Amino acid sequence: MPWSQRDIYLDANATTPTLPSAIEAARWTMDGEFANPSSTHCAGLRAKEMMESARQNARLVLKASRGRILFTSGATEAIQTAVLSALSAKADGDPRYAGRHLLLYGATEHKAVPESLKHWNHLLHTGCEVRAIPVDGEGRHDLAVLRELAPAALLVCTMAVNNETGVISDLDGIEGVLREQPDCLWLVDGVQALGKLPIALDRSRIDYFPLSGHKLYAPKGIGLLWVRESAPFTPLTAGGGQEGGQRSGTENMSGIAGFGAVLQELVQCGGQFCAIEALHGYRERLVGALRQAFPGIVFNMPFDRSVPTTINFSVPGFASKELLDLFDAAGIRVSSGSACSSGKAARSHVLDAMGLPCWRSESAVRLSFGRVWTDADCQRAAERILEAGHALRNACLMTESASQRDDFDGVIQFKHDGACTWLIVARAAAKVVIIDPVSELCDRIERYVRCQGLKVDAVLDTHSHADHESARELLLKDFGGQGPDPAVAVDALGWPQAAGSVDFGQYQLRRMALPGHTADSVGYVLARRTADGAWQTRQVFVGDTVLIGGIGRTNFPSSSAPEIYRSIRRLGAEFGHHMLLCPAHDYRHDFATTLAAEAAINPLLAHTLAELPDGEASFVSAKAQVDAELDDSQGQVLMCGSLRCSSEPDPAGLEFNSQSLRDYLAAHPEARMVDVREAYERAMGAAIEPELHVAADSVPLSRLSQNLVDWLAGEARPLIFFCRSGNRSLLAAKCLRRLGHTQAYHLRGGLALFR
Ligand code: PLP
Repeated sequence: MPWSQRDIYLDANATTPTLPSAIEAARWTMDGEFANPSSTHCAGLRAKEMMESARQNARLVLKASRGRILFTSGATEAIQTAVLSALSAKADGDPRYAGRHLLLYGATEHKAVPESLKHWNHLLHTGCEVRAIPVDGEGRHDLAVLRELAPAALLVCTMAVNNETGVISDLDGIEGVLREQPDCLWLVDGVQALGKLPIALDRSRIDYFPLSGHKLYAPKGIGLLWVRESAPFTPLTAGGGQEGGQRSGTENMSGIAGFGAVLQELVQCGGQFCAIEALHGYRERLVGALRQAFPGIVFNMPFDRSVPTTINFSVPGFASKELLDLFDAAGIRVSSGSACSSGKAARSHVLDAMGLPCWRSESAVRLSFGRVWTDADCQRAAERILEAGHALRNACLMTESASQRDDFDGVIQFKHDGACTWLIVARAAAKVVIIDPVSELCDRIERYVRCQGLKVDAVLDTHSHADHESARELLLKDFGGQGPDPAVAVDALGWPQAAGSVDFGQYQLRRMALPGHTADSVGYVLARRTADGAWQTRQVFVGDTVLIGGIGRTNFPSSSAPEIYRSIRRLGAEFGHHMLLCPAHDYRHDFATTLAAEAAINPLLAHTLAELPDGEASFVSAKAQVDAELDDSQGQVLMCGSLRCSSEPDPAGLEFNSQSLRDYLAAHPEARMVDVREAYERAMGAAIEPELHVAADSVPLSRLSQNLVDWLAGEARPLIFFCRSGNRSLLAAKCLRRLGHTQAYHLRGGLALFR
């Protein structure tokens, strides 16, 4: 099936499909005129002519009658060449650059620019200082700073159009400043401007102008660099002398032909594809659909100072990754921030540089389209965007009234930046208890609780947190009459003072003192009533006493290392080593743990559990050392304990591809497929069950810990996790293996690669 029927592709700033004329031109260089353009025979001459005609088209599009144009593998190589050229001139002692020691780049540049500057500055020992030019809240360069620094600048790099926001730089303003500095070199990354804005290099003061083919409907692996005739130039590669000695290596003829065809179309339509009004019309419709689908949405670019083909937005309460999963499930391919690691939300360096609040940077999503985009595409995209919003509302995540409440009963893990808030939902009694509420999660928790029609029975903390304010008071205020009975006196952590236990529906929580991390640290022991009326302990919410891969830090004023040693031993003595422990932090998406799993990866914890004669004293000295090495500077999260991890299971032993999964299921009919996508993705997205003729359980990662208790207690039955891309399912399989389940697997590449 062609991509246009399967996907709604709104990621044109990442790359574009190749135009039919470009495909045809590229194909022709492979099975028609395939000769080497350096050959002097007739076939070689024809190949060379094709290449020169592509170059000529570039000149026409760029309005660059003079200067060098060399074909490169893309913009990244073109940028390297420009940076190398400028720095080599300085390294060679060119007197024009003697007093110039600053390498300036706009704070929102594509990484290819600052990374090239640092790389070549280091390799050539140029001794320059690489410095960012700040931008304002709309992403425009601070011209006052540029004016101040320009007299010392060797090279200034400013993009024409930003790839994340579509913001158009004030190149006239920058040029105005640089006209006063004739010896300061100027690179303008034109990648996202080509075909969208008029370009006239002959009339400008620009020295280097890199471009990329695949951002504008040419094949990948081709780009070009224009260099002003008076600007320094040094080849990046040496060898056979191709491209007039400016870039050795046999030319990428299919790429050049494809790029040439696109440039020719551009020449024919005056340098810009599509009527600009049509593009504005598409943007308006998409923005309208987004506003309707996601109340509270904010747009992260000024509409009047950006190209109409890029929309960047954030939705309060949602991380970009969640929105990307949602859009992907709806068949809409968009971009979010970079991949999230170590439990921290991914951020956009562009939005950070614009000074937008953290949540907008963590929630940012980019939609981008272009020339290959029709009225019908726009209509389909708008409809799917509305469906995506509808799915979120039904999952109790967007509004407080849902047409469908789910019937989930048990434990839910909400997370923000590695901090966990746990909800225990007693469905039959329509009650919920909230443990360790984090303020960033409050809106989401409130929406969920209200939409599910639950009454809050208690809001508890496991200790007085050092890294974040407890949101207990905030939640209690917001819930008002839907919250706990204000007549019941509670202690500083929210525990009803007179109560031995808190009973809510079929659940019971008991408090257990676990001092050490702080003097007031406690654990909450969760039990559920079984069919015969007995209480069965299921898991313990341990706060920061036991973390996954670490032990809570004990270097706060109210901490005590001997106490935490005894608290951990008490946990072991009371519940054994296989009780599920749910900590207040999950820095790396590990979900929950057990003492046995911790002892296997953390020697200090193994030491704590062992019966050693001088156990406590040696624990205390080892712990002091661990705490001294704690790295508080890991982002904004104050690390609540050391993360000491060894062995990770080898992913290769955990994974299936489509065929090996089919074979395994045929041989193991008892295996269970588990879909770890969120319910709203599952409702909209592709399903695997009809293909495999098996049933699948739905266990979103936020509800994994609820199921861990049963999966680990029962007979080990093979479990095969799957999701959209294979990332979340791998986390689930690793978690199960870590906790001792020997038959947990996942589908590599998820539904995206399933055939
Ligand atoms: N500059 C900008 C503004 C870009 O958007 C990109 C690609 O994302 C690049 C440079 C790098 O281009 P290429 O993929 O051709 O190396």
